[in-house]
Amino acid sequence: MNKIAVVGAGISGLSMANYLEKYQLDYHIYERRKKDDLTGHGFLLPKEGIEHLSQIIDPSVLFEQGNFLKKYIRYSHKGKILAEKDLQNVFVISRSTLIRILSQNIPPEKISYGETVVPCTTQKGKLKKQDGTYIDADMAIVSDGSKSRIRREMFKDETMRTVRENEIVNIIKCKDIAARLESNFMKYHHEDGGLTFGILKISEDTVLWYSQFDNEKYRIFEEPTTENLKKYMFEIFEDWDPMVSSIVKGSNYDNIHLWKVYELEQLNPFYKDHIVFIGDAAHPLIPFTSQGVTSALKDSATLTRYLKSEKNRTDAFRKYEAERKPEIEIHIRNGRILLDQFLKPLHLQTENIIPISYK
Ligand SMILES: Cc1cc2nc3c(=O)[nH]c(=O)nc-3n(C[C@H](O)[C@H](O)[C@H](O)COP(=O)(O)OP(=O)(O)OC[C@H]3O[C@@H](n4cnc5c(N)ncnc54)[C@H](O)[C@@H]3O)c2cc1C
Repeated sequence: MNKIAVVGAGISGLSMANYLEKYQLDYHIYERRKKDDLTGHGFLLPKEGIEHLSQIIDPSVLFEQGNFLKKYIRYSHKGKILAEKDLQNVFVISRSTLIRILSQNIPPEKISYGETVVPCTTQKGKLKKQDGTYIDADMAIVSDGSKSRIRREMFKDETMRTVRENEIVNIIKCKDIAARLESNFMKYHHEDGGLTFGILKISEDTVLWYSQFDNEKYRIFEEPTTENLKKYMFEIFEDWDPMVSSIVKGSNYDNIHLWKVYELEQLNPFYKDHIVFIGDAAHPLIPFTSQGVTSALKDSATLTRYLKSEKNRTDAFRKYEAERKPEIEIHIRNGRILLDQFLKPLHLQTENIIPISYK
């Protein structure tokens, strides 16, 4: 029997496994996807996130594969500069790269890919694999993402709601655009509100662009296939500043993805019996905060610290929740303020908002 079962190998599950590995605590990690089935967007990481990552991985490996952003420039959709702000230690990296780096320290025998773990509906509190066998562990650390099945089964009265914002994210290879961006984070805003286009350089030849849109105003009626998302982007951004419209028209759409954003009306407890939740499974955060990854890393670090210092599991879980919940509540509040601002016309928005929530 493994002492600890970790469910999910996203950023939170993998960072947890890195800490458990570092402190030689016995664990096994179960992940639904296949090993190399990595899709997704990119992350903005504030300084605290980099500091936490540096505790578990070699920072030079990290810095080789992402980019430090120096300046945030806020534009209107027609290209007028509205504000500029220097950024201190804000780093950008693609999700797949960060997952690959975090996986490198995990011995292959300690991780099972293609293994979905679900709550057992007949035996309360038990978790099982898809072949029906129970997960036999002293405790389960659940990091299966914002729509966690295990959380929904344990806290049946929770209300999960869709947020009035979706994101279309694309990662493209293009040296020319990367060179033009330098280390600037450029974000264009429609004057009527509820629509933005952001561009960031991830490396010398890789660029991430994304659009955030009010999903009540800019509806996508068709299936979000590559072709339909491309058509949508062409239509919506046709008359924007040439920097935006040329990128939209010239991009390869193989990596395009539509993200629907969800949040919990109210946070649940972060633990019950022998099961504890970390990352998005404990507390979905809307992308405006740019704090999802840093929060996941801090959850793992805090939980590990209490698992080591406390004599029993329940005390460790209780102290973990008491330390992490107040900060998460600040990010949830900040996220809602940023969302509210985003939905307003530009002239009603507070000037110079950096798209990061700081506590
Ligand atoms: C569009 C978008 C942009 C974002 N931008 C940023 C940003 O700039 N900065 C930032 O810090 N954060 C950002 N976030 C948030 C960030 O992605 C997450 O907070 C962070 O990745 C932590 O995720 P996680 O590991 O908790 O969950 P996930 O990344 O959802 O990982 C969950 C893992 O569990 C696996 N899984 C699910 N169910 C099961 C199961 N039943 N059994 C086994 N495995 C299972 C999944 O396959 C997955 O690998 C963004 C999110 C979105 C959607």
